[in-house]
Amino acid sequence: MDLSCKSYLSKSRLTHRDGERANTMGSSLTELYNDLNVQLILMGFLENEISILTPVLDVDKTPRYVIVENVTHLASDEVANLLDKMAQADVLKKELFTKTVSCPKCNKPSDIYDRFECPKCGSTGMSVSTVPNSPKTMGITRDNEQVEIAEHKESHESISVYRCDNCGEIFVEPALRFSCKRCRHKFRFRDAKLRDVFSYRLNETASNELRATAYLVTIKDMFEKKGFKTQVPSILTGESGTSHRFTLGGKMNGTTIVVDFVQGRQGSEVGETDVLAFYGKLIDVQPTESILVAIPHLGPDGEKLAKATRVKYVESVNLKEAAASLREFIASSQWRLHR
Ligand SMILES: [Zn+2]
Ligand SMILES: [Zn+2]
Repeated sequence: MDLSCKSYLSKSRLTHRDGERANTMGSSLTELYNDLNVQLILMGFLENEISILTPVLDVDKTPRYVIVENVTHLASDEVANLLDKMAQADVLKKELFTKTVSCPKCNKPSDIYDRFECPKCGSTGMSVSTVPNSPKTMGITRDNEQVEIAEHKESHESISVYRCDNCGEIFVEPALRFSCKRCRHKFRFRDAKLRDVFSYRLNETASNELRATAYLVTIKDMFEKKGFKTQVPSILTGESGTSHRFTLGGKMNGTTIVVDFVQGRQGSEVGETDVLAFYGKLIDVQPTESILVAIPHLGPDGEKLAKATRVKYVESVNLKEAAASLREFIASSQWRLHR
């Protein structure tokens, strides 16, 4: 059976709650949904592996969405761009998670140290003591301003106060100052450059649309309906002991199936390197069945190599069409599933 099949671009039938916007966004939204990485992220949300995607801050304060990096193999800045694009398209909702502090002089968020200082002389040496709350303890300073400790007025609680070891100043709260190790600039919070860091969740109002366009979920479901325990992405260990990653892997009763999706950059053809990489993994993992999905199609060298190595492949103009091609592939495959 010749598994290579050409599909033709069908016009997007995506609907959007804002009709006018859908017209202008339509093509870019279709493009977004046909991005394999977008599908991998969607899958994480729709399969309830992710409910809210929160970042961890790297040592240089770069927000990292590690789970997405692992699944997509994109660099941290590419992940941030992609998540932002998905939020702009209303696929995801972004929420402010935190703000990072950048130096107002050199603009860098890395190497910023915060320190607590005496509000009067800037010394970091201070001792803390607990004093009983009484009218006498009022009138001490906080950040160079006289403050009344109104909240303690009526109670008999004791309060913590600080005394500067250098100038003897007594204060309730030390002043928070930042210093930049790169340019040695010292600054206050109010002068700092702040950068928003976001967390992401699925836009539930668009979840019906998302389910209809979550092609990878559809493809995974097709294999699961056949009885395969399916994982996306799937890591399988080869005979050499090396772990190999496939876009999808399914197992059932000793039958292993692997599927790799390879998307040519910006709609360009898939080259022989991708075919070779897939072939190399097959040699090591030795699955029962395998198929390479080339989007939009293999280049002449890739095609030659696929034929020489007997790598099975389908060519699909986009992920939506790939789902249809794989449906055919599953329907026509004669696996010995029950041994
Ligand atoms: Zn600086
Ligand atoms: Zn002081």
